Amino acid sequence: MQLYPFTDPAAGAPRQIVAGEGAWVTDADGNRFLDAVAGLWCASLGFSDERLARAAYDQIRTLGYYHSFKNRSAKPADDLAAKLVEMTPGSIARVFLACGGSEAVDTAVKLARSFRIATEEPGRMKVIARTGAYHGSLGMSASLTGMGYVHDGFALPGGVVRVGRPHPYRDKHPNESDRQLADRLARELDETIRAEGAETICAMIGEPVMGAGGVIIPPEGYWPAMREVLRAHGIHFIADEVICGFGRLGTWFGSDHYDLAPDLMTMAKQLSAAMSPVSAVGLSAEVADALDVQSARLGTFGHGVTYGGHPAACAVALEAIRIHEEMDAPKVARQKGEALGALLERFRGMPGVGDVRRLGFIAAVEIAPDAGFGGAEVGAEAEARGVFFRIIGDTLAMCPPYVATDEDLRRMTDVLEASIKACRA
Ligand code: PMP
Repeated sequence: MQLYPFTDPAAGAPRQIVAGEGAWVTDADGNRFLDAVAGLWCASLGFSDERLARAAYDQIRTLGYYHSFKNRSAKPADDLAAKLVEMTPGSIARVFLACGGSEAVDTAVKLARSFRIATEEPGRMKVIARTGAYHGSLGMSASLTGMGYVHDGFALPGGVVRVGRPHPYRDKHPNESDRQLADRLARELDETIRAEGAETICAMIGEPVMGAGGVIIPPEGYWPAMREVLRAHGIHFIADEVICGFGRLGTWFGSDHYDLAPDLMTMAKQLSAAMSPVSAVGLSAEVADALDVQSARLGTFGHGVTYGGHPAACAVALEAIRIHEEMDAPKVARQKGEALGALLERFRGMPGVGDVRRLGFIAAVEIAPDAGFGGAEVGAEAEARGVFFRIIGDTLAMCPPYVATDEDLRRMTDVLEASIKACRA
C-alpha cells in the first residue's frame, strides 16, 4: 500500500471507492454504501454529477489555467468572487480564492494579522480558538485546531489563545442552564482577553456550529454574547464556514443563522459541492481597504497560491452554486433536516444514547459515557450494515448530501438503531 496514510494498518488496505451516485458509493469489491456524511461533509450534490462534470470539461477546453495574481485574473475567478460577495452576509465585500479549507483558514489569519500591521498595531498577532474545534491541518489551521493529535509538535508558538467550546451535553456545570452556559463562556472569553491583553490579539475564529469537533450546536444566546465581547475589545471575528456554508444550517451561511457579521469568513467543501478543490476567504471592506493601502505602500501583496482562482475549479464552483440556488439549498436543508429530526426522535432516551442534536441538515447521536461501548464500535457495526457515519469519539455525525432521499434517511437511522442494539447485545 503506497498511499499514505491509512489510519488502521491492522484493518488492512483502506476500502477503495470506485464509483458513486447520489448519496451512495461503491467499493472495489462491488459493495455499496450509503454515506451519511457526504464524504467529508462536502459532497452536497452526491458523488457524481453531469452538470459539474460538464462545467469542468467546458472550462478546460476554453481556458484550463490562468492565474489570478498581480493584475491578472481569469473570468471564472472574477465571476465566482462577485457571486460570493453577492450571497455572503453583508459584512463581506471582497473575496480571496484558494484551494482548500486549511489554506483558507491560514489565509484568513494571515490577512487578520496583516490588517494589524497595516493599521500599525503590530503587537496584535494572537488568534483565539476553541477547544475541540477542527480548522485544518496546515501551519496556522493546525495550530488553531484544538485537538492535540493534529498539532502536537507542530503548532506555531505563541499564536493561539484557547477558550472553551459551547457543548451543552458535555460541558455544562451541575444545574447550569443553557443560557447560563452561554453567559459563562462569554464571561470566560472576556477574562481570557483581559489576562492576555487585547492589544496582543487580532482575531477569534469559530464555526457557527462546530462540525468535525462533534456537531456542537451552541446554546441560545452564545453567539450574541461572544460577539459583544469581541467587539468591545476591537477583536475581529473569522467565521469558519467550511462546513456550515452553502445552506447546511438552513440558511445560506451559518453567519446568517446567528447574525455573526464576520470580518473574515472561510468557505470550502460545499462551495464546489466537493467536485473541485476550491476555497474562498471573504474580507470585510474595513480589512480589504486597509490591506489595499498597505499593498500600495509596499508595491506588492504578499500572499497567493498558483492554483488560487483556478478557472476549472471556479467554473465547477459557479455551477455548484447555480444548482444549490435552483434547488434552494437552505430550504432543502430545513425540510430534509426536519425529516431527519423526526427519524432521530426515537434515539432520545434510548439505552446507550446520551444525546441527540440537530440544526438544519447536520445532526449527531452521541453514545453515553456509561454505555459500555463507544462510537467506534457503533460505527463499525454500521459500516458492516452498509452505512458510513463520521465517528468523532463517541459521536456519530450525520451531514447527508442534499440529494439523499427520504428512503436514504430512513435507512441511515434504521442502520444506526440496529448498530446501537448490536453493541448493547
Ligand atoms: N475548517 C473546518 C471547519 C473544517 O471542517 C475543515 C475540514 N474538515 C477545514 C477547515 C479544513 O479544510 P480542508 O480539509 O479542505 O483543508
